[in-house]
Amino acid sequence: MSNAELSVLEKNILRAKGVNDQGLAALTAAGISSKADFAVVGDAETLAAVTGLEAEAAERVMAWAMGETATSGAAGTVTIDSPDVVHCAHCQARQPKDYKSGDLCLSCGQQAEPTRSCFWCGESGPGQFCRGCGTRFVAIAEFELALMLRRDGYPRDDIPTRLQAMAPAEKDALWARVRQLR
Ligand SMILES: [Zn+2]
Ligand SMILES: [Zn+2]
Repeated sequence: MSNAELSVLEKNILRAKGVNDQGLAALTAAGISSKADFAVVGDAETLAAVTGLEAEAAERVMAWAMGETATSGAAGTVTIDSPDVVHCAHCQARQPKDYKSGDLCLSCGQQAEPTRSCFWCGESGPGQFCRGCGTRFVAIAEFELALMLRRDGYPRDDIPTRLQAMAPAEKDALWARVRQLR
């Protein structure tokens, strides 16, 4: 056992991937104390099994953790994906440039993007935007936060940007309110 802990930056990134404080504690308890430890874990399924993280969050975490391992090669070059690059939710394969929402993954044949639900109208589908009302989807892990902001009366189009700009502490406070309503 080491008493090493994930860095503040790593924790913030993990929070952005949908890992809450409980999840972070579970990672530490499972012995994960650095990004490199995720390579030992190997895949999202194992991560979910050892930490109890939700599958969605586990997949995002592994995509992040393994993505850099794969791209920081011997030459030391790091490829930074542009934000609109889509990786398959099932096998993490990077989708081609002409990829369109709803396309099947070229590598594993499953629908590359997860289906998300619209926090505004309840319609669900793949892609970045709701086909029912045009609202930008929020991360699956933050769906309930979006519902809470909606309840608070924020305009539809402000909610996704607001969530993205929110500091982890603000999100924690919002989560606390979500839990109170359960
Ligand atoms: Zn795939
Ligand atoms: Zn909608």
